[in-house]
Amino acid sequence: MMTRLHLPDDAAWLPKEWAHLVPYHGAENMMGGVQRRAMTMHSEGEERNCRKGHGWLPEYVNDIDIPYTAMWCGACGYWAQMISMRKAARSLKGGAIVGNGASANKAGQRNIQIMLIGEADARDFTRGKMRRAWVLAEIMDAHRIPWRARATWGPGASRNRAAWLRSGVHGHQHSPAPYEDHTDPGRLNVDALFREARRQQRSRHA
Ligand SMILES: [Zn+2]
Repeated sequence: MMTRLHLPDDAAWLPKEWAHLVPYHGAENMMGGVQRRAMTMHSEGEERNCRKGHGWLPEYVNDIDIPYTAMWCGACGYWAQMISMRKAARSLKGGAIVGNGASANKAGQRNIQIMLIGEADARDFTRGKMRRAWVLAEIMDAHRIPWRARATWGPGASRNRAAWLRSGVHGHQHSPAPYEDHTDPGRLNVDALFREARRQQRSRHA
């Protein structure tokens, strides 16, 4: 019965049952050019603990014009979506790395930008509860994003352009833009994230 809510291939928006939808008007098109299908993990500036009632945060990032595709609180399982998964998010600007000079966030076919929140006290997001990680799995499968990521996260991660253009899961630290030199969401254990997302997805579909 859970398969009823399986995300359709290439879906632009999460079902309302899965996520609070706060559409941002003014999202830009992806630029194509390279065969890149990626997901980028971010934190929203300062770390934020879960205080439930997250609804103001997607409104806020829309208002200040740096919306993400979606946000996820791993502590309570809250998801919100601001931008169509077929469009470019604005949370990663700069870095003229596609042929026509478009910024890093627009390279390829997909760059789904996820803001991770709710685990400011944990040493990394993946040491937290990762509630409703299955939504992440559904997004990756629907958009054919390969289940692979760089081995090194955090300040030591490669900022090489070729590494950035590889399909898979990246952090903000992988941006090749020179002034995008901070690292978020920190030292994510991406193996733990993948494992938990798949585990929850399988148990829902069983
Ligand atoms: Zn929360």
